[in-house]
Amino acid sequence: MAVEETTTIGLKCEIVTPEGLIYDGRADIVVVPGEMGELGILPRHASLVSRTVVGEVRVNESGNGWKPIAVGSGYVKMQFDRLLLLVNTAENAVDIDVARAQAALERAEQYLARADEPEVDRHRAEQSRRRAANRLKVAGKV
Ligand code: ATP
Repeated sequence: MAVEETTTIGLKCEIVTPEGLIYDGRADIVVVPGEMGELGILPRHASLVSRTVVGEVRVNESGNGWKPIAVGSGYVKMQFDRLLLLVNTAENAVDIDVARAQAALERAEQYLARADEPEVDRHRAEQSRRRAANRLKVAGKV
């Protein structure tokens, strides 16, 4: 039997959004944005289910370096060397539309400047600003 068939390399990582499977591959380590800070997940990590926040996922693919992905909030589950990340949104750094994110950031900041007005939803504007700022940060890593 070939070595490839008997050896499991790294952990299996899947990133899923309502739009579908955004990432499906093997990794040596995956870093996800946890509520209390970054979580670095290696093969044979203990079973885990945890919430994740808007931030950057970094997948280290053997031989291919780090792959940055901007994600919205969601959940991570790790079990039996399989990592499943369920998130609202996920974009590979190379696919991020920078002009769109800049426009979203400006829009959010305009709302926040008027946050004391009754028709402005401050929480919504803050979330929007967070998503846009995160996309710009992750896009800058390409
Ligand atoms: P916008 O106001 O520009 O739509 P948003 O933060 O409200 O920004 P989301 O609701 O988080 O957008 O995402 C909606 C969809 O658009 C998702 O599929 C997300 O991956 C995609 N998306 C949002 N912004 C960008 C961007 N700057 N580049 C690439 N895809 C994006």
